[in-house]
Amino acid sequence: MTASEGHDQCCDQMAYAVADEDLYLLYIPKSREWGIRYRDGISYSQIEYCPWCGAKLPKDLWDEWYARVEQLGIDPIEDHDKIPEAFRGDRWWKEAGL
Ligand SMILES: [Zn+2]
Repeated sequence: MTASEGHDQCCDQMAYAVADEDLYLLYIPKSREWGIRYRDGISYSQIEYCPWCGAKLPKDLWDEWYARVEQLGIDPIEDHDKIPEAFRGDRWWKEAGL
């Protein structure tokens, strides 16, 4: 994925869309995942391609996130409060070069 200027989304339209709270498009920095929200506002359907430029989005990092948090001796669900700051956003996978 090539980053455009000023953001790390695949294209400017995607960057605007994920920043727009009125749109049902969702980006989760922690797991590098994109999705479209259901009307319930909670569930979402993951998307694999950008709806605007057609770029294939990188694979989500949920498995990697769980594995790395568990490696720290933290239960991702039970010990949610102990999860380090880096693992609450995109810093952990950016620093790991994933
Ligand atoms: Zn795009």
